[in-house]
Amino acid sequence: MQTSSSFPHPVNEPVRGYAPGSPERTGLLAQLEAYTSADPIELTGHFGRGRRPGGGERVAVTMPSDHHHVLGNVGLSTADDVREALAAGERVARDWDDLGLEARAAIFLRAAELAAGPWRDRLNAATMVGQGKTVQQAEIDAACELIDFLRFNVDYARQVTGVQPASSSGVWNRMDYRPLEGFVYAISPFNFTAIAANLPAAPALMGNVVVWKPSLTQQFSAQVTMDLFEAAGLPEGVICLVPGRGPEVSAVALSDPRLAGIHFTGSTATFQHLWGEVGRNIAGYHAYPRLVGETGGKDFVLAHPSADPRMTVTALVRGAFEYSGQKCSAASRAYLPDSLWRSIRDELVETTEALSVGDVRDLSHFTSAVIDQRSFAKQSDAIARARSTASTQIVAGGTLDDTQGWFVRPTIVTGDDPYDEVFRTEYFGPILGVHVYPDGEWEKMLEVVDGTASYALTGAVLATDRRAIEQAQRGLRRAAGNFYVNDKPTGAVVGQQPFGGARASGTNDKAGSLWNIARWASPRAIKETLVPVIDHRYPHMGADPKDR
Ligand code: NAD
Repeated sequence: MQTSSSFPHPVNEPVRGYAPGSPERTGLLAQLEAYTSADPIELTGHFGRGRRPGGGERVAVTMPSDHHHVLGNVGLSTADDVREALAAGERVARDWDDLGLEARAAIFLRAAELAAGPWRDRLNAATMVGQGKTVQQAEIDAACELIDFLRFNVDYARQVTGVQPASSSGVWNRMDYRPLEGFVYAISPFNFTAIAANLPAAPALMGNVVVWKPSLTQQFSAQVTMDLFEAAGLPEGVICLVPGRGPEVSAVALSDPRLAGIHFTGSTATFQHLWGEVGRNIAGYHAYPRLVGETGGKDFVLAHPSADPRMTVTALVRGAFEYSGQKCSAASRAYLPDSLWRSIRDELVETTEALSVGDVRDLSHFTSAVIDQRSFAKQSDAIARARSTASTQIVAGGTLDDTQGWFVRPTIVTGDDPYDEVFRTEYFGPILGVHVYPDGEWEKMLEVVDGTASYALTGAVLATDRRAIEQAQRGLRRAAGNFYVNDKPTGAVVGQQPFGGARASGTNDKAGSLWNIARWASPRAIKETLVPVIDHRYPHMGADPKDR
C-alpha cells in the first residue's frame, strides 16, 4: 500500500542547441567519435542474472547512414532465454511491488537526472549512430522526451494513486493500486529511444515486472537505456531486455499464462497480429491481458485559403521531412487550396530540393538515412509507383542512393485523386503526398481528409480565418488524437500534448499521461468498518406497535 508522499513537481527538460562552438557540441562529437571509432561491441540481453548475449543467431547492428559500419553484434534470445527472463520477473515481482511507489519513483527520477546530465551524450550519440537521427532529433527524443517521460510519469502515478473513494460514518474506504498479476510484455519500435524506454518503464514504475523486446534496429540505444536504468538502481529482473525477432520471442511470451499486459508501439499490422494471438490464447491466461498499443498514422496537413504561405512551407518541410518522415506523427498527406499552392509551389519545391541529407556525424545536415534496407526498398517502390501512375507526379526529390547509407531524398508527390494510395498508405519515409483542391471546396475537403485513411493519429489545420479553424476542429474531431492549429503535426511534448490516436492508430491511451499510467494498475477497493455491526436484524424486522 502506498503512503502519502511529496513528489517533485515535473518540468520539461530544456532542449539544447548544439550550435558551433557550444560546449554541448564538443561533448557530443567526442561521444560520436568514441562510438564509431571503437571495434563493434557485444550487445547483450538481460535475462535476470547479469547481462549476457542471447544464445541464438548473432546479428550485426549497423549505422543507417553508413551501413557498412558495424556498431555491435547482438545474440538473439532463444526460447529458453525468454523463459529465463519470465522466471526472473516472477522471482522479483513481490519485492518490487513491496518496495512501494516512492522508492520505485526515486529510481526513475534518478534515471531522469542522470539522462539530463552525465548520460545525455551517450543517449543522444547512440540514437544518432544507431537510428540515423540528426543531433536535433536525437536531443528532443533520447534526451528530452525520455527525461520528461520519467519525470512526468512519477507525477501521474501520484495523481492516479491519489484517487481515493469517499468514506462514510464509521467506515474507511481505500483504493489499493496493485500491479497487474503476471508480467507486462513491452514491445518497442525503432524510431524513438524515449518511447522504447517508456514502454517498459511506465508499467515498472507502477510495480509491474516487464519483459522488454526492443526493435533490432534500436538495439544500440536500448543497451544504453538499460545501462542507465541499472546505474539508477533498477533491481535486476524487474525489466528484462530480451533481444530478438518478434515472432520468436512472442512464441514464448504470448503463450505464457502469466501474460498480464502488452505495452506496444509500432505498426498497425504488428499490433493487430498481437491482439489476434492474445484472442486465440485467451482461455489460457490467468487474467485478461491489458492491451495498450500506439500504432501507425497517415497524418495530414489541411490548409485553408487564408493560411499563411510561409508558415505552410515551414510546417510541411519540417513536418514531413524531419527524421526522414520516420515519425508516427510525420505529415505524409497535405491538402492545399489552389490559390495557396500557386503562391508556395516554387518555394516549397526549392526548399525541399535544398535540404541536405547525409551522415549523422556531420551536424550540418537537415536529415539522414532511413532506418534499413527494408524501409529503403519500400520508399523505392513507392517512388517508382508514383512515377508510373498517371494521376501522380513527383515535383521534388524522387531519388535514392544506398551506396553508403540508406539515403532517400525528401520527395513531394502531387496527386489529382485524393483517394490515391499516396494519401492512404503509411510509407514511413520522406514522401509527402499533396492534393491541390479548388478554393471553393474547403468544406468538402473536411470530409475527404476524414474519410481517406484508416488512421487517426495526428493532423494539422492551417488557417487565419477563425471560422475555418472552428469548422476543421469540429469536422475532423475523430480524424486525429493529436490535432494542431497553425503548426506542424509533429513534436508532441510530454505533459503538454499527451500523445496517441484512435481508429487504426491505436488504443489512444496517451503515452506519458495519467490515462496510460492507470492502465498498469489493477485497483482493489478496501472497505474497513471501524465499528462493526453486532446485530444481524434490520429495523423493519421489529414488531409493529399495532400488533402488540
Ligand atoms: P514494427 O511494427 O515493424 O515493429 C515494432 C516492434 O514490434 C519491433 O520491436 C518488432 O520487432 C516487433 N514485432 C514485430 N512482430 C512481432 C511479433 N509477432 N511479436 C512481438 N513483437 C513483434 O514497427 P517499426 O517499424 O519498428 O516502427 C514503425 C511503426 O511504428 C510505424 O507504423 C509508426 O507509425 C509506428 N509508431 C507509432 C507511434 C505512436 O505513438 N502511435 C510511435 C512510434 C512509432
